[in-house]
Amino acid sequence: MSHSLQALDRAHHLHPFTDFKALGEEGSRIIERAEGVYIHDAEGNRLLDGMAGLWCVNLGYGRVELVTAATEQMRRLPYYNNFFKTTHPPAVRLAEKLCALAPAHLNHVFFTGSGSEANDTVLRMVRRYWTLKGKPEKHWVIGRENGYHGSTVAGMSLGGMAPMHDQGGPCVPGITHVRQPYWFGEGRFGDVRDQDPEAFGRQCAAAIEEKILELGEETVAAFIAEPVQGAGGAIMPPASYWPAVKEVLSRYDILLVVDEVICGFGRLGEWFGSVHYDLAPDLMPIAKGLSSGYLPIGGVLVGDRVADTLIQEGGEFFHGFTYSGHPVCAAVALKNLELMEAEGVVERVRDELGPYLARRWATLADHPLVGEARSLGLMGALELIDPASGERFDKALAAGNLCRDISFRRGLVMRSVGDTMIIAPPLVITREQIDDLVTLAREALDETA
Ligand code: PLP
Repeated sequence: MSHSLQALDRAHHLHPFTDFKALGEEGSRIIERAEGVYIHDAEGNRLLDGMAGLWCVNLGYGRVELVTAATEQMRRLPYYNNFFKTTHPPAVRLAEKLCALAPAHLNHVFFTGSGSEANDTVLRMVRRYWTLKGKPEKHWVIGRENGYHGSTVAGMSLGGMAPMHDQGGPCVPGITHVRQPYWFGEGRFGDVRDQDPEAFGRQCAAAIEEKILELGEETVAAFIAEPVQGAGGAIMPPASYWPAVKEVLSRYDILLVVDEVICGFGRLGEWFGSVHYDLAPDLMPIAKGLSSGYLPIGGVLVGDRVADTLIQEGGEFFHGFTYSGHPVCAAVALKNLELMEAEGVVERVRDELGPYLARRWATLADHPLVGEARSLGLMGALELIDPASGERFDKALAAGNLCRDISFRRGLVMRSVGDTMIIAPPLVITREQIDDLVTLAREALDETA
């Protein structure tokens, strides 16, 4: 059966972020079912899902409470919109719950269907805000090289993924990018090899100020960044970075947009990455873990400064999606957050599982292939290096992809970004399962070496 499905897949299905020709030649792995932290493929293999799907299945697979929430809502009201002056209970209750969980000054939410749509919304809100403030000249948005903010035209423009820009045709004008605080790749193995991580972090923050001055200090509207770059390679910034960034932004009155699509909902051991790094974002795009990925939903949490202006001075905001605050998605997201709260999932990541993973993950640092093993909360990365030279691998060797494929074969889903191996397992993983994950990762490294 799986063969015929593979053939149909080859014949008709264009996968996201996939080399279509290679897919046609090699075929795909068909995932049929899942429970807890495990996925099962059509060949009968069970894999530990070290990536929580795509950084989203925070509560793990097979939660019947979420299924019940969806079916009950589908029976009662499968769809209605939030346009104009209508709404429905799930959207209102979810909005209230999100604002209660978020830092105190974030008291409004605009719902979207995804993280990318959330970032499109961010761009429109930022520009609208400064226009309403009588400063339309403040229009530049600064993002970061290798940052990821989605795949729509605005999302990929805000993101700093060069291959996306190269393929995507013209990016949205008025967006530019600065250096990412990626110590391992651009500090230790970059052009500033002699600096310590904290000096490097300050230098990356200073690059934002240099960019502001280059663009004109009256022209910058916002800075957008993930607390920890996820898709770019699970890049935790040096401790010096965020305080210095905050200082620069406040000096030039620039809005801070913190993209919590991956870091939100417990991944870093707090409800939001902004809490971990003590950030006070003006806008906070969210998605993924909001519903534990069971249904697509995203949004933008809006701080009082921007919300007050949009509400009091804005008139109609000509923006929204058919599925903004979809009732079934909202009901599932609400139940997801209630379960996370009731089960103390976030606190457990902060106090128990994150520190445990950090200890176990660090043991991989002694492997000859590993140049750095880092983690925060339940997000981890291994930087592969060439044991022969002690340098990073030649990219053409695709060591990371090899390690990823071996890891899959051995029963662990790890992701590779170049030669950075990433994990972000469901937040309900147990200590024993973390032990298994680390053992499987070591076996994959051994076989790759
Ligand atoms: N922002 C960040 C930080 C992400 O990691 C992603 C997706 O990986 C997005 C935005 C885009 O979200 P979506 O794929 O739901 O459009």
